[in-house]
Amino acid sequence: MSYRISTLISQEELEKGITRVAEQINEAYAGKELHLICVLKGGVYFTTELSKHISEDIRVSVDFMSVSSYGSSTASSGVVRIVKDLDEPITGKNVLVVEDIVDTGNTLSYLLEMLKDRGPASLKLCTLLDKPSRRTKDVHVDYTAFEVPDKFVVGYGLDYDQHYRNLPYIGVVEFDD
Ligand code: 5GP
Repeated sequence: MSYRISTLISQEELEKGITRVAEQINEAYAGKELHLICVLKGGVYFTTELSKHISEDIRVSVDFMSVSSYGSSTASSGVVRIVKDLDEPITGKNVLVVEDIVDTGNTLSYLLEMLKDRGPASLKLCTLLDKPSRRTKDVHVDYTAFEVPDKFVVGYGLDYDQHYRNLPYIGVVEFDD
């Protein structure tokens, strides 16, 4: 199947959006400790950039987790499995989950329930992109950099069959008929 990629959110817009979210986080966690959980692989570019904008008066730590919905198609299958668990316990910590995109909400609703059972002091969710029109699970998103339409997007961590994560912008995959 042939396709083209067109720009949806430019590099400059991404930088502004990420800075804006970081400012909200800096205000909310001023003087506190903050444990970032990067959801691999898609969240890695956003987590890296976001964390560099977090104020030095917030003591930041970072851990990584990898979850996957079965299959590698462009639609989430609804079944979630943990591919890599966290290295550190989160009990008593202010946890902020950092995700690339919330689509149906299936992955995040599963992940947040699981993390809640581990007893964090607080548990919040920050996403680079939100596709609210596709939501089937009720997931509360605390920080969103951008809302996007119901299109398949790539870049800045998001892949199409493991490619295009390295694009410095968000693009829409447009399939030719
Ligand atoms: P959800 O469980 O919210 O439906 O989907 C979560 C996961 O599906 C995301 O973390 C991402 O890996 C994948 N996903 C959903 N929408 C898109 C999209 O537009 N582009 C890409 N590359 N992945 C997506």
